[in-house]
Amino acid sequence: MNIILMGPPGAGKGTQAAKLVEKYNLKQISTGDLFRKAIKEETKYGVIAKYFISFGYLVPDDFTIQMVEEYLHENIHTEEFKNGFILDGFPRTIVQAKKLQDICDMFDFKIDAVINLDIPEDVLIKRLSGRRTCEDCGKSYHIVYNPPKVEGVCDVCGGQLLQRADESEEAVQVRIDTYNKQTKPLIDYYQMKGELINVNGDQTMDQVTQDIYDILDKI
Ligand code: ADP
Ligand code: AMP
Repeated sequence: MNIILMGPPGAGKGTQAAKLVEKYNLKQISTGDLFRKAIKEETKYGVIAKYFISFGYLVPDDFTIQMVEEYLHENIHTEEFKNGFILDGFPRTIVQAKKLQDICDMFDFKIDAVINLDIPEDVLIKRLSGRRTCEDCGKSYHIVYNPPKVEGVCDVCGGQLLQRADESEEAVQVRIDTYNKQTKPLIDYYQMKGELINVNGDQTMDQVTQDIYDILDKI
């Protein structure tokens, strides 16, 4: 089963992807995580992505698509992918969505569901301003809605929890504006293809998870 998880920044894509990985043994492909890893390792993708990410802009399409293609080329036939994958944060533009169709043909797979986490803008700002991410394993927490057992320390690996560099007030607003301009049109795109499934993202984490399970269990 291959899924696209869509939604604005802070909608809960990463949080829900982790639940789906556990239940269905899928591989999560987060382009945001791939870029952050590339920045840490100072690869060619990291050097370019750093600038765009820090201001809250999207990384240019050709560059993002190239990274995803390379990643799939190297990983798609590995054991981790045998039950399928969750795309978290890709596609984010119409150009990327069209290219994804070509990539599906190239690697001979299909997307089984496009799940859109629907959520009002004021909730996003509260979520993003309280998000803390483990610098070692990438697990995300929220200081109010999903706090770690020990403040500032990851429950899973003991790593330090930090606020992401693109979570300053200014960058958060740019990311939301960028979403509205460049990514929101994908809702219509997938709706017109008859593939979009909306889920109310403004519920407790467990309720959102249950709603997604109910959808995927029927696939
Ligand atoms: P995304 O991957 O879509 O950017 P995250 O999964 O990182 O979003 O979630 C953003 C923040 O909101 C995190 O701090 C997370 O713990 C919190 N969060 C996610 N889902 C919910 C929810 N249903 N209710 C409250 N907080 C949530
Ligand atoms: P995320 O972790 O999904 O919130 O992504 C963090 C940042 O990485 C985004 O604000 C973008 O700058 C960049 N990014 C992630 N995925 C994409 C994508 N599909 N296209 C362009 N930029 C992306």
